[in-house]
Amino acid sequence: MEAKQKLDSLVDDLSKANKLPRLSAAAHDVDKIIKLLSDAREQIAGAMDPHTASLTMTKLQNPIKTTFEKVNDHLKAASSAHKKVGRSLDKHFPLQQLPTDNDSMGDHLPLINRAVAMHLLREGQFGVASTFIDEVQTKNPRATPSSFDEPMDEDEDDEGGEGDEGDEDDTDADADGSLGLAVSTDDDYDLSSLHSQELQDKFAEMYQILQHLKAQNLIPAIEWARANSFELEARGSNLEFELSKLQYVWLFKGPAVNGLPDDQHNGRSGALTYARRHFGRFQSRHLREIQQLASAMVFAPNLATSPYHQTFSIDSAFTDVAASFTREFCSLLGLSAESPLYLAVTAGALALPRLMKYMLATRSKGTEWTTAQELPFETPLPESMLFHSIFVCPVSKEQTTEHNPPMVIPCGHMLARETLQKLCKGNRFKCPYCPSEGLMKDARRVVL
Ligand SMILES: [Zn+2]
Repeated sequence: MEAKQKLDSLVDDLSKANKLPRLSAAAHDVDKIIKLLSDAREQIAGAMDPHTASLTMTKLQNPIKTTFEKVNDHLKAASSAHKKVGRSLDKHFPLQQLPTDNDSMGDHLPLINRAVAMHLLREGQFGVASTFIDEVQTKNPRATPSSFDEPMDEDEDDEGGEGDEGDEDDTDADADGSLGLAVSTDDDYDLSSLHSQELQDKFAEMYQILQHLKAQNLIPAIEWARANSFELEARGSNLEFELSKLQYVWLFKGPAVNGLPDDQHNGRSGALTYARRHFGRFQSRHLREIQQLASAMVFAPNLATSPYHQTFSIDSAFTDVAASFTREFCSLLGLSAESPLYLAVTAGALALPRLMKYMLATRSKGTEWTTAQELPFETPLPESMLFHSIFVCPVSKEQTTEHNPPMVIPCGHMLARETLQKLCKGNRFKCPYCPSEGLMKDARRVVL
């Protein structure tokens, strides 16, 4: 709560600073001075009478002087506003030494550069991205451009673990997997392997479609979903139907709501025509919803009190489909919907206060944090930032890791693999929780 108050007062100071005369006014005045000067130059150059020059110069003096003063006033106001925000920032958020004892990313500059470039590209900051990539590459010139390897591998591996079940010999593979970053050569993370132009084109398309969605035009998004329907369906995505459904509802609302031309393509008859033309392909998967959409016609005069009220509410419909569209678009590119860099930085910032507290506490006690795989405390992250469930072995009380994954044994109980190996006599083990016995080869790895 304390942090919230600090933030509130900071936001307050910032908005005060924003209310001050903008620097655009100063720029305007500078333009005015330039115009005064160039006009005078033309007058003097075109004059026959030699007195014109001195006369023009004299006339010029006062307006130039006052305009300069105005520019200075603007600059002073702006800089004092900046200083005030800076002071407020210092006051509420004094500089603190960050714990840098364990800089696990310190040796991975190429990875960090890649993540930054990727973030800029996916946020649509194409100009900044290409400058960044150019600068990184000028600093680290490479003799050979890297080959066409899979460009989009910065995504977190949410699905992960296929083919790992029950494989007792995967320890080496795991080690390589988790240390993949360390064993790869820099070339793998060369920014040219990003195929930034290709990505830029893709994201430009995404932002164009999003812009249309913002303007409540669904057609480009529907066309994209149709063109990619095979891949989307393979992912179990309903995006194309969701978009088409919203288009039906949008037309149904009529010109008073959707602002489209009042003709046979709009309103209820327009919606019906749309449904007849486009809903057929969705019948096998969404018959019930299509029936509901059609039945709603009967309630058209009084939709608000009908059972279909919810289906036809469009308050957040466009933002919702825009979010689904972004998610699906990114996933077809092999990327997560949210920028991993953004997530990592935000999660890091949220965890930082506890980390700092912990470091101070351990330093004063002279103890050290030795577990490399897990943090020694809980991090207060919101649900949206939690991607992997954590399993703690009920016997060893250790958190499972890549190297010591959770295993399910035939009776259904779950243990960490190392625990299981310790329990093993020969090839057999006895479950510590029930009277069952099992064979090591029947234990299956669980991917959470
Ligand atoms: Zn059991």
